[in-house]
Amino acid sequence: MKIETLGDAWYHDAKVWMACAYGKREGLKTIRECGFQKTLDLETLICTRGWDFPLAMLATRLRCPHCGSRQIRVVWNFPSLDKRGAAAVGPRGRGYIGARTRWG
Ligand SMILES: [Zn+2]
Repeated sequence: MKIETLGDAWYHDAKVWMACAYGKREGLKTIRECGFQKTLDLETLICTRGWDFPLAMLATRLRCPHCGSRQIRVVWNFPSLDKRGAAAVGPRGRGYIGARTRWG
């Protein structure tokens, strides 16, 4: 079962939240971490982006309202099909875990 679009996530009753990933460093300076987090409303996302919008691209379209950073982590949770809980879906996706071979 592949979940690639907002429509797929909606079908699986997914929960989604964003976290600002703006780090502790700016060049050589140490700065305060932003730490902004927000639960996102999937219905609104579908209204603004459409059913076919890829989940992996969502992080690239978000911006932190506190610090203006575009470094955003998006975390998806699919309670209906994954007991392991939250899964980060980003440009690199979850492929790494799945690509490991059985028994080496
Ligand atoms: Zn921020």
